[in-house]
Amino acid sequence: MRTGIATVCLSGTLKEKMQACAIAGFDGIEIFEQDLVTSSLSPEEVRTMAADLGLGLDLYQPFRDFDGVTPDLLKANLRRAEAKFRLMSRLGMDTILVCSNVATATIDDDGLRASQLAELAELAGDHGVKVAYEALAWGKYVNDYEHAHRLVEMVDHPNLGTCLDSFHILSRDWDTAPIENISADKIFFVQVADAPKLSMDVLSWSRHYRVFPGEGQFELAKFMGHVVRAGYSGPVSLEVFNDVFRQSDVERTAVDAMRSLIWLEEQSAKWLAGNAPEGSTANGTASRRRYPMELATLPKVNEPAGFNFAEVKAADTAQLEKLLGQLGFAFEGRHRTKDVQLWTMGQARVIINEQAPTHAGPAIAALGFDVDSPVIASARAQQLKAPVVARKVQADEEVFQGISAPDSTEIFLCQGSPDGTAAWTQEFGEGLEHPSAGAAAVIDHVNLAQPWQHFDEAVLFYTSALALEPQPFAEVPSPSGLVRSQVMQTSDGAVRLVLNLAPVQQSPAQQAHKTYQEHIAFAVDDLVSAARSARHRGLEFLQIPANYYEDLDARFDLEPGFLATLQELNLLYDRDADGEFLHFYTATVGSVFFEMVERRGSYDGYGAPNAPVRHAVQYDSLHRP
Ligand code: MG
Ligand code: MG
Repeated sequence: MRTGIATVCLSGTLKEKMQACAIAGFDGIEIFEQDLVTSSLSPEEVRTMAADLGLGLDLYQPFRDFDGVTPDLLKANLRRAEAKFRLMSRLGMDTILVCSNVATATIDDDGLRASQLAELAELAGDHGVKVAYEALAWGKYVNDYEHAHRLVEMVDHPNLGTCLDSFHILSRDWDTAPIENISADKIFFVQVADAPKLSMDVLSWSRHYRVFPGEGQFELAKFMGHVVRAGYSGPVSLEVFNDVFRQSDVERTAVDAMRSLIWLEEQSAKWLAGNAPEGSTANGTASRRRYPMELATLPKVNEPAGFNFAEVKAADTAQLEKLLGQLGFAFEGRHRTKDVQLWTMGQARVIINEQAPTHAGPAIAALGFDVDSPVIASARAQQLKAPVVARKVQADEEVFQGISAPDSTEIFLCQGSPDGTAAWTQEFGEGLEHPSAGAAAVIDHVNLAQPWQHFDEAVLFYTSALALEPQPFAEVPSPSGLVRSQVMQTSDGAVRLVLNLAPVQQSPAQQAHKTYQEHIAFAVDDLVSAARSARHRGLEFLQIPANYYEDLDARFDLEPGFLATLQELNLLYDRDADGEFLHFYTATVGSVFFEMVERRGSYDGYGAPNAPVRHAVQYDSLHRP
C-alpha cells in the first residue's frame, strides 16, 4: 500500500512537515495549497526537497467551487485552474483535487456540470494533469460519491477521475459496497480519515474532529476492503483536520499518523480475508484472490490475558509501603540486584521501583501484560513504531520486552502462565512463597491520565500494539472540568485500562511534575471484609459525603443495614442490569491512589456514576487549606 499524508494534518512550516513525513516513513504527501502559498520555498525548491527526502508529491489540493456555475464564472474558474496547472508543472505534480461546489454553484443540472467538468478535463489534459473530483459531504448539489462517479462516467475523459474520501462517505452513512462498481482507472485518489461519532453539522465535524484511523469510530477497514476490491492501487493518504494535531509536535504526530496507516493496512487485509465478495464461492478461495494493491500484515497477537504487574516509581517509598500493607499486600522482598521491591496480594503484583524516580512523589511508571509470546508482541509493537524501552538485566534474569506508551508509561510484554504466576518473582528476596490474604485478588483495572495532546495517539497505541478494544468514551464532571474517559479493554475484561484526559497543567512547576492522579484498582471477592481489615490496619479511606448515601438510597432503595455498612466504611456502590459493584478509594500519595473493587454478577463497568463524587472529594482534599 502506498502511504500518504496531507500537509494540512501537521503543525509547522511546509519544510518541517515534509521532513517529519520523510522521517515517519511516508511514501508521498498531498500539498495543501495554503502550505505552499505561505512558504518561502519556491515550487522548484519544494520539488527538489521532496526528491531529496524520497517523498512523492502525490496530490495538489484543494481546488474549490468549480462546477455548476454560470458561463461567466466558468471562464474565471478555467483561468484559475490553468494557473494551478502551470504551478503543478513547476512542482512536478500531476494530480489535483477538485471538490464539488459548495459556494458558487447556482445550476443543479448534471448535463451542465458534466460539460463544465469536460472542459476542465480537456484543459488539464493539455497540461498533463489529472483531475480527481471529490464529492464533499456538504456539497451544494453533489455530496454523494456515487453522484461524483456518475459525472465522471458522463464526461468519460482520461484526465477526469474521482477521489474517494472516507470522511465524506462515512459521515453521511453512504453505503460503501458500491465503491466496487467504480472502475479502478477512474479512482484517481483515496483519502482516509476516522472520526468519533458526533451529532453536529458535518462541516464543523470535518474541519475540527477528524482523527487518524483507529482513533475514531468509522468502519475504515470495510471502506478500504471495497477500495481494494475495486482494483485501486494508488496512494492511501491521510487527510485529517484536527485542532489538536495541528498544534502538536510535528514529528510525533507524523509517526502517530504512520502508525494509523500501518494498522489500517493490516485491518483491511483482515477484513478482506473475512469477507468474501458477493457471489463468490463459500470455500473462501475468492477472498484470498490477489488484488493490485498489496497489503502488508503485522506479527499477529491475541488480546493480553491479564495484567502481569503494575509498577510505581518513588524516591521516598515509606507512604507507599504503608498503604500497600494496609490494603493487605504482603512484602515479598527486594530484587537481588536492583533497588526494587515486590508486593503481592493473590495474583496482584505491585513493584515499587526506587531507581531513578522521574517525579518527586510516587507515580505509576510501568505496566506488565501477560501475552502469548513477548517476542512476537514486541515485534508487532516495534513495526507499529512504538519506541523500545531498554532495561538492564543480569544473565540469569528474565528479559522483559518493553515499549514506551505515548504518555511515557513503560509497557512490558510478559510471558503469561496458565496458573497466573510469574517466574520473575523468583528474582526477589529468598524466592519464597508468602501466603497472603485475599488469595483471589487480581489487578482489576488501571487508570492512566493522558496529556491532552496525546490522548488520541494513546487510543491508537493500545488498540494497535496491544489489541485492546476501545469502548465508547464518557465524560465525567469534576470540579476542575469535564474529564474525558475512555475505557480500553479485552473482550473478557481480564485487562481493563481506563484513559482519562488529564486537566491542563496551569503552571510550569506543575508541568514539571506528574500532578494529575492515576490509580490501580484491585478486585477482591469480599469487599466489605477487605475494607474492615484495611480499616483495622489503619488505612485512611477517601471520605465520602453523607449526601452521597442519601442519594444512593433514593436511587436503589437499599436494605438499611447494607446502606449503613456502605456509609460506615466509605464504600461506593453501583448496580445495573448485569450486577452490582462495590468499591473504595485510598488517599493519594504522590500522584497515585489505589482502589479496591468487588464485582458481583457480571457487572462490567467501573462505577461511573460514582466518579464525580471521587473527583470532588479528591479535589477537596488537595485544596484544603
Ligand atoms: Mg478530501
Ligand atoms: Mg477506577
